[in-house]
Amino acid sequence: MSRPRIKQGMVQVYTGNGKGKTTASLGLALRAIGHGYKVFMLQFMKGSKDYGELQTAEKYLPNFIIMQSGLGTFVSKENPSQHDLDMAHQGFKTAQKVVNEGHYDLVILDEINIAMDFNLIPIQDVLELVNTKPPHVELIFTGRSAPEAIREAADLISEMTLVKHPYYLGIEARQGIEF
Ligand code: ATP
Ligand code: MG
Repeated sequence: MSRPRIKQGMVQVYTGNGKGKTTASLGLALRAIGHGYKVFMLQFMKGSKDYGELQTAEKYLPNFIIMQSGLGTFVSKENPSQHDLDMAHQGFKTAQKVVNEGHYDLVILDEINIAMDFNLIPIQDVLELVNTKPPHVELIFTGRSAPEAIREAADLISEMTLVKHPYYLGIEARQGIEF
């Protein structure tokens, strides 16, 4: 039996300073998988295996693949290392391949907005991906500071507004909540 296809694949952007960008995309993945769609998430600038979503996908969700393309250490905006650049380029190449093959219905590029803002990935290359993707593929970009050109190209943008965050009370990231 043939799998369902998303009717009109769009481009969604989750940005802003408030919490909920990556988790919004994970919620979309959960929803899509329930209908038989396949989801691929590439996490840019992340390299830690400690994220709960990695364990969940691996253990329980065969239709949800999550890959990371980062070092798990702080990336300097002004002076990213060659290794940071290489990882981002490698990750983007994988993303291009996955999108263009069209095997995955939802492709989530987590923190790609930051990767563009830090000049690790050229905005032009991401725009080209948007313009050449197969029609059934839904693209989801997360991360603070989504560039203006990406906002223009998107069909849906949600801006998470920071109202309160326990971080500012000195509370560190909590397992199961922040990672
Ligand atoms: P989440 O992954 O929880 O959905 P996010 O993707 O919106 O958060 P990022 O900007 O990717 O948030 O931030 C990375 C980490 O910092 C996450 O652990 C996130 O929960 C946490 N965080 C989110 N918003 C803030 C904030 N305003 N101040 C401090 N830390 C934050
Ligand atoms: Mg995030």
